[in-house]
Amino acid sequence: MTTGTLYIIAAPSGAGKTSLVKQLADTLDNLTVSISHTTRQARPGEVDGQDYYFISVPTFEAMLKTQAFVEHAQVFDNFYGTAQQTVATNLAKGLDVILEIDWQGAQQIRSIFPDSVSIFILPPSTDVLRQRLTNRAQDDEQTIARRMRDAVTEMQHHNEFDYLIVNDVFEQALGELTSILIAQRLRLAKQHSRLNTLLSSLLSGR
Ligand code: GDP
Ligand code: ADP
Ligand code: 5GP
Repeated sequence: MTTGTLYIIAAPSGAGKTSLVKQLADTLDNLTVSISHTTRQARPGEVDGQDYYFISVPTFEAMLKTQAFVEHAQVFDNFYGTAQQTVATNLAKGLDVILEIDWQGAQQIRSIFPDSVSIFILPPSTDVLRQRLTNRAQDDEQTIARRMRDAVTEMQHHNEFDYLIVNDVFEQALGELTSILIAQRLRLAKQHSRLNTLLSSLLSGR
């Protein structure tokens, strides 16, 4: 059995990565979305262990010490990290794994997993990005202003990614994202192990 593919998805806050990834996970089988650890406050409606593992700064630091994270970064004023163990276990099971992480985490993952596939999501304009953060109505004005400032830094790293998607019309962006994963699954190396029996039969001429 081949191992799964590791996907990195990054975007400025509000570009729509969480909405796109949620729909993608409902569309495709054999796909898991990594649940990050964060020291930020849960937003209304966010569930611990589902959206994030919400932890304290001391717990985060203790996990860092025991090398529990495969990558970690400070984003805005909070710490975020991806648990090493879950990612490794799911990839070994042959499942594709999606990481929704920032550009700093993406750099760390690329150096550890050179075969990972990275996708950057852009908003259609600055105004639309601001509008989405406001409409989402989950962050206060000060937080939104901070996220808009940091959006430019995040987007400056778009050229480090394999694929770029503009999330203007949601269904179109979702279709484009799905296509990337499907194409990756059709690559020769992945198909070889999946189609082992078929290929043996066809090539034997029987
Ligand atoms: P949202 O992007 O607006 O939903 O806001 P969040 O507070 O959920 O995430 C803020 C930023 O932290 C985003 O750029 C995420 O991609 C990034 N992030 C989330 N989890 C992780 C993680 O485990 N590691 C890293 N490096 N970044 C993360
Ligand atoms: P992120 O995870 O990148 O911060 P979200 O997925 O939370 O972004 O999306 C931010 C807001 O924009 C949400 O309220 C979401 O419903 C909305 N949204 C996402 N994609 C689109 C789209 N293509 N058109 C309109 N609104 C969108
Ligand atoms: P949720 O976080 O509930 O999955 O998605 C929140 C928002 O994302 C929705 O209110 C909508 O703006 C956008 N969204 C999620 N899924 C879809 C979809 O299938 N089609 C469209 N057009 N928008 C969606």
